[in-house]
Amino acid sequence: MENICKRCFLLESGRDDTLKSIKEHIDRLSEKEKASDEEYRRRLEVCGGCDFLSGGVCLKCGCYPEFRAAFAGQKCPYKKW
Ligand code: SF4
Repeated sequence: MENICKRCFLLESGRDDTLKSIKEHIDRLSEKEKASDEEYRRRLEVCGGCDFLSGGVCLKCGCYPEFRAAFAGQKCPYKKW
């Protein structure tokens, strides 16, 4: 059985293929679509302290926060950011 790391992002969970794919998608976003680097880091700091983060997945909505947080127009489903 896979060991799920609570409060871990994909980066820390060893899910390198998924993270690589996410980064490639983020790189293709236009500057208008993309959250600023500062905002991206701020959002992930919030997710990193959230009980819904588990193994790189948000248990509230099923998204990958490392992906969702990259979009300027996206919001946390729990209104934390
Ligand atoms: S997106 Fe919101 S609910 Fe999901 S892990 Fe991040 S802060 Fe928590």
